[in-house]
Amino acid sequence: MIRRFFARLIPGKASSKPLIYGPDAHPIRKSQISRGAHDVIRKLQQAGFKAFIVGGAVRDLLLGITPKDFDLATDATPEQVKPLFRRAFIIGRRFRLVHVLAGPETIEVATFRSLQTGDDAADEHGRLLSDNVFGSQAQDALRRDFTINALYFDPSSEQVWDYVGGVADVKARRLRLIGDPVTRYREDPVRMLRGARLAAKLGITIEKKTAAPIPELAPLLENVPPARLFDEMEKLLLSGHAVESLKSLRRHGLHHGVLPLLDVILEQPLGQRFIELALANTDERIRDGKSATPAFLFAALLWHEVLATWNTSKAKGERAMPALFDAMDRVLEQQATRLAIPRRFEATIKETWALQPRFEQRSGQRPFRLLEHPRFRAAYDFLWLRCASGEMEGELATLADWWDRFQDADMEEREKMLRPEDAPKKRKRARGRKRKADDASGETGASGDASDDANQKE
Ligand code: ATP
Ligand code: MG
Repeated sequence: MIRRFFARLIPGKASSKPLIYGPDAHPIRKSQISRGAHDVIRKLQQAGFKAFIVGGAVRDLLLGITPKDFDLATDATPEQVKPLFRRAFIIGRRFRLVHVLAGPETIEVATFRSLQTGDDAADEHGRLLSDNVFGSQAQDALRRDFTINALYFDPSSEQVWDYVGGVADVKARRLRLIGDPVTRYREDPVRMLRGARLAAKLGITIEKKTAAPIPELAPLLENVPPARLFDEMEKLLLSGHAVESLKSLRRHGLHHGVLPLLDVILEQPLGQRFIELALANTDERIRDGKSATPAFLFAALLWHEVLATWNTSKAKGERAMPALFDAMDRVLEQQATRLAIPRRFEATIKETWALQPRFEQRSGQRPFRLLEHPRFRAAYDFLWLRCASGEMEGELATLADWWDRFQDADMEEREKMLRPEDAPKKRKRARGRKRKADDASGETGASGDASDDANQKE
Protein backbone atom coordinates (compact mmCIF):
# COMPACT_ATOMS: atom_id res chain seq x y z
CA MET A 1 0.00 0.00 0.00
CA ILE A 2 2.70 2.40 1.07
CA ARG A 3 4.82 1.32 -1.87
CA ARG A 4 1.98 2.04 -4.22
CA PHE A 5 1.44 5.46 -2.70
CA PHE A 6 5.07 6.41 -3.14
CA ALA A 7 5.29 4.95 -6.58
CA ARG A 8 2.44 7.18 -7.57
CA LEU A 9 3.78 10.22 -5.85
CA ILE A 10 7.41 10.12 -6.83
CA PRO A 11 7.17 9.91 -10.61
CA GLY A 12 4.89 12.91 -10.79
CA LYS A 13 6.85 14.93 -8.33
CA ALA A 14 10.46 14.02 -8.78
CA SER A 15 11.03 16.39 -11.66
CA SER A 16 7.81 17.53 -13.19
CA LYS A 17 9.66 20.60 -14.46
CA PRO A 18 12.22 19.86 -17.13
CA LEU A 19 15.57 21.49 -17.61
CA ILE A 20 15.23 23.15 -20.99
CA TYR A 21 18.38 23.51 -23.07
CA GLY A 22 18.23 26.12 -25.83
CA PRO A 23 20.06 25.79 -29.16
CA ASP A 24 23.21 27.32 -27.69
CA ALA A 25 23.47 24.69 -25.01
CA HIS A 26 23.50 21.55 -27.17
CA PRO A 27 24.69 20.53 -30.63
CA ILE A 28 21.46 19.29 -32.30
CA ARG A 29 20.17 21.29 -35.24
CA LYS A 30 16.78 20.92 -36.88
CA SER A 31 18.50 20.28 -40.21
CA GLN A 32 19.56 16.91 -38.75
CA ILE A 33 15.94 15.83 -38.36
CA SER A 34 14.31 14.00 -41.22
CA ARG A 35 11.81 15.95 -43.23
CA GLY A 36 8.98 13.56 -42.43
CA ALA A 37 9.56 13.74 -38.68
CA HIS A 38 9.69 17.51 -38.75
CA ASP A 39 6.53 17.79 -40.86
CA VAL A 40 4.61 15.50 -38.51
CA ILE A 41 5.76 17.46 -35.47
CA ARG A 42 4.78 20.76 -37.07
CA LYS A 43 1.33 19.51 -37.88
CA LEU A 44 0.77 18.25 -34.34
CA GLN A 45 1.98 21.53 -32.89
CA GLN A 46 -0.24 23.55 -35.24
CA ALA A 47 -3.18 21.51 -33.97
CA GLY A 48 -2.30 22.62 -30.45
CA PHE A 49 -0.46 19.53 -29.23
CA LYS A 50 3.00 19.04 -27.80
CA ALA A 51 5.27 17.01 -30.06
CA PHE A 52 8.90 16.01 -29.78
CA ILE A 53 11.54 13.67 -31.14
CA VAL A 54 12.32 11.31 -28.31
CA GLY A 55 14.50 8.40 -27.30
CA GLY A 56 17.34 6.90 -29.30
CA ALA A 57 17.46 9.61 -31.97
CA VAL A 58 18.02 12.48 -29.50
CA ARG A 59 20.60 10.42 -27.64
CA ASP A 60 22.46 9.52 -30.83
CA LEU A 61 22.45 13.08 -32.13
CA LEU A 62 23.82 14.41 -28.85
CA LEU A 63 26.62 11.85 -29.12
CA GLY A 64 27.34 12.74 -32.73
CA ILE A 65 25.88 9.52 -34.17
CA THR A 66 23.45 9.48 -37.10
CA PRO A 67 20.14 8.09 -35.83
CA LYS A 68 18.50 5.05 -37.44
CA ASP A 69 15.04 6.54 -37.22
CA PHE A 70 13.06 9.27 -35.49
CA ASP A 71 10.41 8.35 -32.95
CA LEU A 72 7.90 10.96 -31.87
CA ALA A 73 6.08 11.53 -28.62
CA THR A 74 3.03 13.73 -28.16
CA ASP A 75 0.27 14.53 -25.69
CA ALA A 76 -2.32 13.79 -28.39
CA THR A 77 -4.07 10.43 -28.15
CA PRO A 78 -3.89 8.07 -31.15
CA GLU A 79 -7.47 9.04 -31.99
CA GLN A 80 -6.45 12.70 -32.03
CA VAL A 81 -3.33 12.08 -34.10
CA LYS A 82 -4.83 9.95 -36.85
CA PRO A 83 -7.27 12.45 -38.42
CA LEU A 84 -4.52 15.07 -38.77
CA PHE A 85 -2.82 13.02 -41.47
CA ARG A 86 -3.93 11.67 -44.77
CA ARG A 87 -2.02 8.43 -44.41
CA ALA A 88 -1.94 7.33 -40.79
CA PHE A 89 -2.77 4.06 -39.05
CA ILE A 90 -3.29 3.15 -35.47
CA ILE A 91 -1.25 0.03 -34.78
CA GLY A 92 -0.70 -2.30 -31.85
CA ARG A 93 -3.40 -3.65 -29.63
CA ARG A 94 -1.73 -3.39 -26.26
CA PHE A 95 0.64 -0.50 -26.87
CA ARG A 96 -1.25 1.66 -29.33
CA LEU A 97 0.77 3.88 -31.63
CA VAL A 98 0.17 5.78 -34.81
CA HIS A 99 2.22 5.17 -37.93
CA VAL A 100 2.21 8.23 -40.13
CA LEU A 101 3.42 7.77 -43.69
CA ALA A 102 5.32 10.89 -44.66
CA GLY A 103 6.77 10.54 -48.14
CA PRO A 104 9.11 7.55 -48.05
CA GLU A 105 9.25 7.58 -44.24
CA THR A 106 7.09 5.87 -41.67
CA ILE A 107 7.04 7.98 -38.53
CA GLU A 108 6.03 6.33 -35.28
CA VAL A 109 4.02 8.60 -33.01
CA ALA A 110 3.47 7.53 -29.41
CA THR A 111 1.28 9.20 -26.83
CA PHE A 112 2.98 10.13 -23.55
CA ARG A 113 2.58 7.25 -21.12
CA SER A 114 2.97 6.79 -17.42
CA LEU A 115 4.52 3.98 -15.50
CA GLN A 116 1.84 1.66 -14.24
CA THR A 117 2.35 0.61 -10.69
CA GLY A 118 0.32 -1.44 -8.27
CA ASP A 119 0.25 -5.12 -7.53
CA ASP A 120 -2.00 -6.15 -10.40
CA ALA A 121 0.24 -4.44 -12.98
CA ALA A 122 3.13 -6.85 -12.45
CA ASP A 123 3.85 -10.57 -12.21
CA GLU A 124 5.23 -12.17 -9.06
CA HIS A 125 8.80 -11.06 -9.90
CA GLY A 126 7.78 -7.44 -10.42
CA ARG A 127 7.71 -7.66 -14.20
CA LEU A 128 5.30 -5.12 -15.65
CA LEU A 129 2.58 -6.62 -17.77
CA SER A 130 1.16 -3.47 -19.22
CA ASP A 131 2.51 -0.09 -20.26
CA ASN A 132 -0.42 1.43 -21.99
CA VAL A 133 -1.69 4.11 -19.65
CA PHE A 134 -1.46 7.63 -20.97
CA GLY A 135 0.23 10.24 -18.80
CA SER A 136 2.04 13.56 -18.71
CA GLN A 137 5.31 14.28 -20.46
CA ALA A 138 7.15 14.14 -17.12
CA GLN A 139 5.67 10.71 -16.45
CA ASP A 140 6.58 9.64 -19.96
CA ALA A 141 10.20 10.55 -19.27
CA LEU A 142 10.26 8.60 -16.02
CA ARG A 143 8.86 5.38 -17.45
CA ARG A 144 11.72 5.19 -19.98
CA ASP A 145 14.76 3.08 -19.24
CA PHE A 146 17.98 5.12 -19.25
CA THR A 147 18.33 8.86 -18.65
CA ILE A 148 19.98 9.40 -22.02
CA ASN A 149 16.98 7.71 -23.67
CA ALA A 150 14.50 10.08 -22.04
CA LEU A 151 15.38 13.35 -23.77
CA TYR A 152 12.95 15.29 -25.96
CA PHE A 153 13.94 17.50 -28.86
CA ASP A 154 11.60 20.05 -30.38
CA PRO A 155 12.89 20.89 -33.85
CA SER A 156 10.72 24.01 -34.07
CA SER A 157 12.43 25.69 -31.12
CA GLU A 158 15.59 23.56 -31.21
CA GLN A 159 15.16 22.96 -27.49
CA VAL A 160 16.09 19.80 -25.59
CA TRP A 161 13.79 19.00 -22.65
CA ASP A 162 15.34 16.96 -19.87
CA TYR A 163 13.38 15.62 -16.87
CA VAL A 164 15.97 13.15 -15.62
CA GLY A 165 19.45 14.61 -15.95
CA GLY A 166 20.06 12.87 -19.26
CA VAL A 167 22.03 15.72 -20.83
CA ALA A 168 24.54 15.64 -17.97
CA ASP A 169 24.85 11.88 -18.39
CA VAL A 170 25.47 12.23 -22.12
CA LYS A 171 28.25 14.70 -21.32
CA ALA A 172 29.71 12.32 -18.76
CA ARG A 173 29.25 9.42 -21.23
CA ARG A 174 27.45 7.36 -18.65
CA LEU A 175 24.50 5.02 -18.91
CA ARG A 176 22.22 5.42 -15.92
CA LEU A 177 18.84 3.85 -15.27
CA ILE A 178 16.05 6.19 -14.25
CA GLY A 179 14.91 5.40 -10.73
CA ASP A 180 15.89 2.47 -8.53
CA PRO A 181 17.84 -0.01 -10.68
CA VAL A 182 16.57 -3.14 -8.93
CA THR A 183 12.95 -2.11 -9.38
CA ARG A 184 13.49 -1.09 -12.97
CA TYR A 185 15.19 -4.39 -13.89
CA ARG A 186 12.45 -6.32 -12.14
CA GLU A 187 9.82 -4.41 -14.11
CA ASP A 188 11.54 -5.40 -17.32
CA PRO A 189 14.64 -7.64 -17.22
CA VAL A 190 15.31 -6.92 -20.90
CA ARG A 191 16.64 -3.55 -19.72
CA MET A 192 19.77 -5.41 -18.62
CA LEU A 193 20.38 -6.55 -22.18
CA ARG A 194 19.56 -3.11 -23.54
CA GLY A 195 22.11 -1.63 -21.16
CA ALA A 196 24.84 -3.95 -22.36
CA ARG A 197 23.95 -3.30 -25.99
CA LEU A 198 23.75 0.47 -25.66
CA ALA A 199 26.99 0.73 -23.69
CA ALA A 200 28.73 -1.21 -26.46
CA LYS A 201 27.09 0.69 -29.29
CA LEU A 202 27.77 4.11 -27.80
CA GLY A 203 31.15 3.30 -26.31
CA ILE A 204 30.06 4.53 -22.88
CA THR A 205 30.15 2.98 -19.45
CA ILE A 206 27.30 1.66 -17.37
CA GLU A 207 27.23 3.72 -14.21
CA LYS A 208 28.10 1.81 -11.03
CA LYS A 209 24.67 1.68 -9.39
CA THR A 210 23.09 0.69 -12.69
CA ALA A 211 25.60 -2.11 -13.24
CA ALA A 212 25.74 -3.41 -9.67
CA PRO A 213 22.50 -5.46 -9.45
CA ILE A 214 22.87 -7.09 -12.89
CA PRO A 215 24.75 -10.29 -11.96
CA GLU A 216 22.26 -11.06 -9.23
CA LEU A 217 19.19 -10.23 -11.32
CA ALA A 218 20.37 -11.84 -14.56
CA PRO A 219 18.31 -15.01 -13.89
CA LEU A 220 15.15 -12.87 -14.22
CA LEU A 221 15.67 -13.10 -17.97
CA GLU A 222 14.20 -16.58 -17.63
CA ASN A 223 10.77 -15.02 -17.16
CA VAL A 224 10.97 -13.02 -20.35
CA PRO A 225 9.06 -14.55 -23.26
CA PRO A 226 11.59 -16.26 -25.61
CA ALA A 227 10.30 -14.33 -28.62
CA ARG A 228 11.08 -11.00 -26.95
CA LEU A 229 14.57 -12.23 -26.10
CA PHE A 230 15.09 -13.15 -29.71
CA ASP A 231 14.09 -9.65 -30.82
CA GLU A 232 16.53 -8.08 -28.41
CA MET A 233 19.37 -10.43 -29.35
CA GLU A 234 18.71 -9.85 -33.02
CA LYS A 235 19.08 -6.11 -32.40
CA LEU A 236 22.26 -6.74 -30.49
CA LEU A 237 23.81 -9.01 -33.07
CA LEU A 238 22.93 -6.73 -35.97
CA SER A 239 23.89 -3.51 -34.21
CA GLY A 240 27.27 -3.32 -35.89
CA HIS A 241 28.76 -3.69 -32.42
CA ALA A 242 28.09 -7.35 -31.78
CA VAL A 243 31.62 -8.18 -30.63
CA GLU A 244 31.59 -5.44 -28.01
CA SER A 245 27.99 -6.22 -27.02
CA LEU A 246 28.66 -9.90 -26.43
CA LYS A 247 31.74 -9.03 -24.41
CA SER A 248 29.60 -6.69 -22.39
CA LEU A 249 26.98 -9.43 -21.88
CA ARG A 250 29.65 -11.80 -20.65
CA ARG A 251 31.23 -9.21 -18.41
CA HIS A 252 27.90 -8.73 -16.68
CA GLY A 253 27.09 -12.43 -16.58
CA LEU A 254 24.08 -11.91 -18.83
CA HIS A 255 24.69 -14.41 -21.58
CA HIS A 256 23.59 -17.39 -19.50
CA GLY A 257 20.01 -16.28 -19.71
CA VAL A 258 20.01 -15.75 -23.42
CA LEU A 259 22.40 -18.06 -25.11
CA PRO A 260 22.74 -20.99 -22.76
CA LEU A 261 25.18 -22.65 -25.12
CA LEU A 262 27.45 -19.68 -25.50
CA ASP A 263 29.29 -20.25 -22.27
CA VAL A 264 30.40 -23.72 -23.25
CA ILE A 265 31.46 -22.56 -26.68
CA LEU A 266 33.40 -19.54 -25.53
CA GLU A 267 35.37 -21.66 -23.17
CA GLN A 268 36.91 -23.55 -26.06
CA PRO A 269 39.53 -21.44 -27.83
CA LEU A 270 38.39 -22.63 -31.27
CA GLY A 271 34.74 -21.89 -30.59
CA GLN A 272 35.61 -18.48 -29.25
CA ARG A 273 37.77 -17.65 -32.24
CA PHE A 274 35.04 -18.82 -34.62
CA ILE A 275 32.34 -16.70 -32.99
CA GLU A 276 34.52 -13.64 -32.69
CA LEU A 277 35.43 -13.87 -36.36
CA ALA A 278 31.78 -14.32 -37.36
CA LEU A 279 30.69 -11.35 -35.30
CA ALA A 280 33.57 -9.14 -36.40
CA ASN A 281 32.76 -9.90 -40.05
CA THR A 282 29.12 -9.08 -39.52
CA ASP A 283 29.95 -5.86 -37.70
CA GLU A 284 32.11 -4.83 -40.62
CA ARG A 285 29.39 -5.64 -43.15
CA ILE A 286 26.84 -3.64 -41.22
CA ARG A 287 29.12 -0.66 -40.80
CA ASP A 288 29.71 -0.79 -44.57
CA GLY A 289 25.95 -0.60 -45.07
CA LYS A 290 25.68 -4.20 -46.28
CA SER A 291 23.03 -6.62 -45.15
CA ALA A 292 23.51 -9.42 -42.67
CA THR A 293 21.09 -12.15 -41.75
CA PRO A 294 20.29 -13.25 -38.24
CA ALA A 295 20.11 -16.83 -39.50
CA PHE A 296 23.78 -16.80 -40.44
CA LEU A 297 24.75 -15.39 -37.07
CA PHE A 298 22.75 -17.89 -35.09
CA ALA A 299 24.17 -20.65 -37.26
CA ALA A 300 27.62 -19.37 -36.29
CA LEU A 301 26.83 -18.96 -32.60
CA LEU A 302 25.62 -22.53 -32.29
CA TRP A 303 27.99 -24.27 -34.70
CA HIS A 304 30.57 -25.47 -32.23
CA GLU A 305 27.88 -27.02 -30.10
CA VAL A 306 26.56 -28.85 -33.15
CA LEU A 307 30.09 -29.90 -33.96
CA ALA A 308 30.72 -31.23 -30.47
CA THR A 309 27.44 -33.16 -30.41
CA TRP A 310 28.07 -34.48 -33.90
CA ASN A 311 31.59 -35.61 -33.11
CA THR A 312 30.44 -37.44 -30.00
CA SER A 313 27.83 -39.36 -32.01
CA LYS A 314 30.33 -40.19 -34.74
CA ALA A 315 32.80 -41.43 -32.16
CA LYS A 316 30.08 -43.79 -30.96
CA GLY A 317 29.90 -45.22 -34.46
CA GLU A 318 26.83 -43.41 -35.75
CA ARG A 319 26.74 -42.61 -39.44
CA ALA A 320 27.87 -39.14 -40.32
CA MET A 321 24.91 -37.48 -41.96
CA PRO A 322 22.12 -38.80 -39.77
CA ALA A 323 24.28 -37.92 -36.79
CA LEU A 324 24.74 -34.37 -38.09
CA PHE A 325 20.99 -33.88 -38.54
CA ASP A 326 20.35 -35.29 -35.15
CA ALA A 327 22.93 -32.94 -33.60
CA MET A 328 21.37 -29.95 -35.38
CA ASP A 329 17.93 -30.77 -34.00
CA ARG A 330 19.21 -31.35 -30.51
CA VAL A 331 21.14 -28.08 -30.34
CA LEU A 332 18.27 -26.04 -31.74
CA GLU A 333 15.85 -27.65 -29.34
CA GLN A 334 18.05 -26.91 -26.36
CA GLN A 335 18.50 -23.31 -27.47
CA ALA A 336 14.76 -22.81 -28.02
CA THR A 337 14.00 -23.20 -24.34
CA ARG A 338 15.53 -19.78 -23.73
CA LEU A 339 15.45 -17.82 -26.91
CA ALA A 340 13.01 -18.69 -29.64
CA ILE A 341 14.67 -18.63 -33.03
CA PRO A 342 11.76 -18.09 -35.43
CA ARG A 343 10.95 -21.02 -37.69
CA ARG A 344 11.65 -19.03 -40.82
CA PHE A 345 15.31 -18.78 -39.77
CA GLU A 346 15.59 -22.38 -38.67
CA ALA A 347 15.47 -23.78 -42.19
CA THR A 348 18.32 -21.49 -43.29
CA ILE A 349 20.39 -22.27 -40.24
CA LYS A 350 20.05 -26.00 -40.82
CA GLU A 351 20.85 -25.67 -44.48
CA THR A 352 23.99 -23.69 -43.78
CA TRP A 353 25.16 -26.46 -41.46
CA ALA A 354 24.03 -29.34 -43.63
CA LEU A 355 25.89 -28.02 -46.66
CA GLN A 356 29.24 -28.00 -44.86
CA PRO A 357 30.25 -31.61 -45.54
CA ARG A 358 29.51 -31.12 -49.23
CA PHE A 359 32.42 -28.71 -49.56
CA GLU A 360 34.75 -31.62 -48.96
CA GLN A 361 33.58 -33.31 -52.15
CA ARG A 362 35.74 -32.11 -54.93
CA SER A 363 35.36 -34.71 -57.63
CA GLY A 364 32.95 -35.39 -60.47
CA GLN A 365 29.87 -33.25 -60.85
CA ARG A 366 29.37 -32.58 -57.17
CA PRO A 367 31.31 -29.31 -56.83
CA PHE A 368 29.43 -27.93 -59.83
CA ARG A 369 26.11 -28.82 -58.30
CA LEU A 370 27.09 -27.22 -55.04
CA LEU A 371 28.05 -23.98 -56.81
CA GLU A 372 24.50 -23.77 -58.12
CA HIS A 373 22.88 -24.32 -54.76
CA PRO A 374 20.81 -21.27 -53.79
CA ARG A 375 22.53 -21.15 -50.40
CA PHE A 376 26.02 -21.65 -51.76
CA ARG A 377 27.17 -18.14 -50.89
CA ALA A 378 26.16 -18.22 -47.23
CA ALA A 379 27.45 -21.76 -46.83
CA TYR A 380 30.77 -20.76 -48.41
CA ASP A 381 31.10 -17.76 -46.10
CA PHE A 382 30.49 -20.15 -43.24
CA LEU A 383 33.16 -22.52 -44.52
CA TRP A 384 35.54 -19.60 -44.75
CA LEU A 385 34.99 -18.86 -41.06
CA ARG A 386 35.61 -22.49 -40.18
CA CYS A 387 38.93 -22.46 -42.02
CA ALA A 388 40.01 -19.04 -40.78
CA SER A 389 39.24 -19.94 -37.18
CA GLY A 390 41.47 -22.99 -37.31
CA GLU A 391 38.70 -25.55 -37.03
CA MET A 392 39.70 -27.41 -40.17
CA GLU A 393 42.84 -29.42 -39.98
CA GLY A 394 45.46 -30.79 -42.36
CA GLU A 395 44.61 -30.58 -46.01
CA LEU A 396 41.13 -29.25 -45.21
CA ALA A 397 42.56 -26.11 -43.61
CA THR A 398 42.79 -24.62 -47.09
CA LEU A 399 39.42 -25.87 -48.30
CA ALA A 400 37.98 -22.34 -48.46
CA ASP A 401 40.87 -21.25 -50.68
CA TRP A 402 40.18 -24.13 -53.04
CA TRP A 403 36.55 -23.05 -53.32
CA ASP A 404 37.56 -19.46 -53.70
CA ARG A 405 39.69 -20.38 -56.71
CA PHE A 406 37.11 -22.82 -58.07
CA GLN A 407 34.40 -20.16 -58.12
CA ASP A 408 36.54 -17.76 -60.13
CA ALA A 409 38.14 -20.29 -62.43
CA ASP A 410 37.05 -20.97 -66.02
CA MET A 411 35.76 -24.35 -67.12
CA GLU A 412 39.14 -25.71 -68.14
CA GLU A 413 40.79 -24.71 -64.90
CA ARG A 414 37.91 -26.11 -62.90
CA GLU A 415 38.26 -29.49 -64.57
CA LYS A 416 41.94 -29.46 -63.67
CA MET A 417 41.18 -28.63 -60.07
CA LEU A 418 38.85 -31.58 -59.57
CA ARG A 419 40.05 -34.41 -57.40
CA PRO A 420 40.15 -37.92 -58.83
CA GLU A 421 37.05 -40.04 -58.31
CA ASP A 422 37.24 -42.72 -55.68
CA ALA A 423 37.75 -46.34 -56.57
CA PRO A 424 34.53 -47.93 -57.94
CA LYS A 425 34.32 -50.46 -55.13
CA LYS A 426 34.18 -47.80 -52.48
CA ARG A 427 31.69 -45.75 -54.44
CA LYS A 428 29.33 -48.66 -54.64
CA ARG A 429 29.36 -49.13 -50.91
CA ALA A 430 28.93 -45.42 -50.36
CA ARG A 431 25.93 -45.29 -52.63
CA GLY A 432 24.11 -47.89 -50.57
CA ARG A 433 24.53 -45.78 -47.51
CA LYS A 434 23.74 -42.62 -49.35
CA ARG A 435 20.17 -43.66 -49.84
CA LYS A 436 19.63 -44.00 -46.12
CA ALA A 437 21.28 -40.70 -45.32
CA ASP A 438 19.16 -39.01 -47.98
CA ASP A 439 16.08 -39.88 -46.00
CA ALA A 440 17.53 -38.16 -42.99
CA SER A 441 18.50 -35.03 -44.87
CA GLY A 442 15.23 -34.69 -46.76
CA GLU A 443 13.64 -32.22 -44.40
CA THR A 444 15.82 -29.20 -45.10
CA GLY A 445 16.13 -29.94 -48.76
CA ALA A 446 19.88 -30.43 -48.47
CA SER A 447 20.98 -32.85 -51.10
CA GLY A 448 22.10 -36.27 -50.07
CA ASP A 449 25.40 -35.59 -51.78
CA ALA A 450 26.77 -34.56 -48.48
CA SER A 451 26.49 -38.09 -47.26
CA ASP A 452 28.77 -39.38 -50.00
CA ASP A 453 31.66 -37.55 -48.67
CA ALA A 454 30.90 -38.12 -45.08
CA ASN A 455 30.77 -41.82 -45.77
CA GLN A 456 33.86 -41.83 -47.87
CA LYS A 457 35.77 -40.42 -44.98
CA GLU A 458 34.71 -43.16 -42.67
P1 ATP B 1 18.15 1.98 -30.89
O1 ATP B 1 19.16 2.95 -31.32
O2 ATP B 1 18.70 0.62 -30.77
O3 ATP B 1 16.84 2.02 -31.63
P2 ATP B 1 16.53 3.00 -28.80
O4 ATP B 1 16.86 3.53 -27.45
O5 ATP B 1 15.91 3.95 -29.76
O6 ATP B 1 17.85 2.37 -29.37
P3 ATP B 1 14.12 1.49 -29.05
O7 ATP B 1 13.86 0.06 -28.77
O8 ATP B 1 13.89 2.03 -30.40
O9 ATP B 1 15.62 1.75 -28.60
O10 ATP B 1 13.27 2.30 -27.97
C1 ATP B 1 12.92 3.65 -28.12
C2 ATP B 1 12.81 4.30 -26.74
O11 ATP B 1 11.80 3.67 -25.97
C3 ATP B 1 14.07 4.20 -25.89
O12 ATP B 1 14.99 5.20 -26.20
C4 ATP B 1 13.51 4.33 -24.49
O13 ATP B 1 13.23 5.66 -24.19
C5 ATP B 1 12.19 3.58 -24.61
N1 ATP B 1 12.33 2.17 -24.25
C6 ATP B 1 12.62 1.14 -25.08
N2 ATP B 1 12.67 -0.03 -24.42
C7 ATP B 1 12.38 0.26 -23.14
C8 ATP B 1 12.27 -0.53 -21.96
N3 ATP B 1 12.47 -1.84 -21.98
N4 ATP B 1 11.94 0.11 -20.82
C9 ATP B 1 11.72 1.44 -20.79
N5 ATP B 1 11.83 2.22 -21.85
C10 ATP B 1 12.15 1.66 -23.03
MG1 MG C 1 15.02 3.42 -31.72
